[in-house]
Amino acid sequence: MAYSGACSCGAIKFSFEYDPMLQFQCHCNNCHRVFGSSINALAMPEHELEIEGDMAVHTVIGGSGNDMHYYFCSKCGVLIYNKPELLGGIAYVLAGAVADQLEFTPTMELWSSNRPSWMAKAPSIIESFNDNGTVERIEGLLENLDQRQ
Ligand SMILES: [Zn+2]
Ligand SMILES: [Zn+2]
Repeated sequence: MAYSGACSCGAIKFSFEYDPMLQFQCHCNNCHRVFGSSINALAMPEHELEIEGDMAVHTVIGGSGNDMHYYFCSKCGVLIYNKPELLGGIAYVLAGAVADQLEFTPTMELWSSNRPSWMAKAPSIIESFNDNGTVERIEGLLENLDQRQ
């Protein structure tokens, strides 16, 4: 099934055809600053993401110490996706952007020791990394891309 969403003002529309490779949370300080709490995200190859409209980009040093690029609507400021330099080509779409189409069920969390004290560990989590565990994890998933539904 295909998923689709848009920014608040409608200038940017996006869609992706396949289920996300991975649903995860990141509890790093940078995510807390940008999202107000941990990010709830859907990871997928950037080329599977169809975007309509002009996005702006802002780059910061992410929790891993590498660049993190944020792509957002230049009119309303809503984030469309972010992309870690570390994993060149993997886009993180916010789970809330398609919450009406896909129930967020994270199986992995990053920087678990930095999870806010008020937030319970999600029961669906299979792997908790005390740091940025994504490189090995996502590379493993990429090798299994063909097995996705
Ligand atoms: Zn907008
Ligand atoms: Zn983070």
